[in-house]
Amino acid sequence: MSQVLVLNKHFIAISLISWRKAIKLVYLERADVVDEEYRTYSFKDWFEISQCMRDNPAGFIYTPKFKIAIPEVIALKFYDKVRFEEPKLTRKNIYEHYGYRCCYCGGKFSVDKLNIDHILPKSRGGKTDWNNIVTSCIECNLKKGNKTPQEAGMKLVIPPFKPNRRLKLAFVFNPNVKIPTSWQKFIDNIYWNVELEE
Ligand SMILES: [Zn+2]
Repeated sequence: MSQVLVLNKHFIAISLISWRKAIKLVYLERADVVDEEYRTYSFKDWFEISQCMRDNPAGFIYTPKFKIAIPEVIALKFYDKVRFEEPKLTRKNIYEHYGYRCCYCGGKFSVDKLNIDHILPKSRGGKTDWNNIVTSCIECNLKKGNKTPQEAGMKLVIPPFKPNRRLKLAFVFNPNVKIPTSWQKFIDNIYWNVELEE
């Protein structure tokens, strides 16, 4: 495994970095290695332990004189933020966000009967962002055309709203990404912390 899970100082997972960077951060005393029992190790401690470790899931770096176990998880000593991001404006995210409903008539439709609508039309300077984008059925879309809802005499049954920000580490919710067991509890940790913050 070449990647290392990075925790902030409250042990919340915030990113993935290469093992080279991880070891460098620990060496520079900006991060500690974290084991599955939440114990932390400075570079010196980790270096000593590495000499007597026989197995390490992430492997070792060898030099002629010594070896260093590649950590799976490190914790930054001075960084306490959590990074969030807004879900991307993909067709799928937009449809899911509005529950496959037309925001003008409120009806539920299959994907092929839905469109993405710029409330203030793009041709008139409407932006492509969560505040100006809704889903609409084909019928409502035709009725609205290149007008604003007001001009078309239409009302938004479902007004546009922004989705909740997600943790930047959204990969943790992607079932296709295999998560090493050593990461799991920290990822569960972010899950709980996010619930509390949102
Ligand atoms: Zn409609």
